[in-house]
Amino acid sequence: MENLTILGTGPAGLTAAIYSGRANLNPLCIEGDQPGGQLTITSDVENYPGFANPVMGPELMDAFRKQAERFGTRFETGRVVEVDLKQGPYTLKFADGRSVKTRALIIATGASAKWIGIPNEKRLMGKGVSACATCDGFFFKNADLVVVGGGDTAMEEATYLTRFAKTVTVVHRRDKLRASKIMQEKAFKNPKIRFVWDSEVADIIGEKEVKAAQIRNLKTGQVSELSVQGVFVAIGHEPNTHLFRDVLKCDSTGYLVVEPGSTRTNKPGVFAAGDVADHVYRQAVTAAGTGCMAAIDAERYLESGE
Ligand code: NAP
Repeated sequence: MENLTILGTGPAGLTAAIYSGRANLNPLCIEGDQPGGQLTITSDVENYPGFANPVMGPELMDAFRKQAERFGTRFETGRVVEVDLKQGPYTLKFADGRSVKTRALIIATGASAKWIGIPNEKRLMGKGVSACATCDGFFFKNADLVVVGGGDTAMEEATYLTRFAKTVTVVHRRDKLRASKIMQEKAFKNPKIRFVWDSEVADIIGEKEVKAAQIRNLKTGQVSELSVQGVFVAIGHEPNTHLFRDVLKCDSTGYLVVEPGSTRTNKPGVFAAGDVADHVYRQAVTAAGTGCMAAIDAERYLESGE
């Protein structure tokens, strides 16, 4: 029987591990498909406090992990496919049949990139379609690319891709960006980036690899074809809560709901930290902050013997 199990190893999960490890709770941390979370597919992190110079996302997460290990966190790798949260102690079941029983649980499963949902998007994934410029940008030297979206992620991806690409065309469904002013300005100033407004990517053309993007103007209905070698989708994220939607309170978009000013979910001893419960801030530092809160909330819960 575990005292405390932490599901997820992004900034939220690992900060919860550091704090609960230092509080002698001997936490078990479960690593899923993307150890280290979203920061592992980011390049320079410039806004994490404490770093005067940019730090690479994977490097930062490696440091988080080592710090958690130093205070006795144990790590187990596997995909949790079922949770029984009817009453404590709670049970987590892995795909390979293993299971873990735990008195307290911190859910820090984060969020994942959203996809447009057009048929050829999936088929051409890894063959020119991507949701991670940092992971795949390198493969597109001198290429013409499309980035879909108008938020900070889209601007960040487009700007990053100009390191490699010849041109980057941002296709946005409205005539105004959602991105912050500073990121917009950076993108507008970049001579390699151009914008196609009020438009969507209606289809992606190519047999074995991306050859072109079909772009539909949403105002006129006119469809045109743009010859490109890559399509980067940057339209936001979805919380990784599918395991919990029937048992824990979620909002209309699937984010876990916690009591204001705490990380408590509607089940005693079950806490949520990071992007899985935050559709507003979604920053590494806020995820780490709520990870710390969750560890303290879990410690108090275990101490109270509820
Ligand atoms: P976001 O702010 O939700 O923006 C998503 C963008 O994609 C919007 O422009 C949206 O269009 C568009 N979109 C959504 N669904 C679409 C669809 N099905 N087809 C076409 N377009 C679609 O998401 P985000 O850019 O990932 O940013 C999320 C949060 O992380 C934000 O708070 C952001 O500030 C933060 N962030 C910060 C940084 C940084 O500071 N370095 C970097 C990345 C992200 P509409 O505008 O029309 O809704």
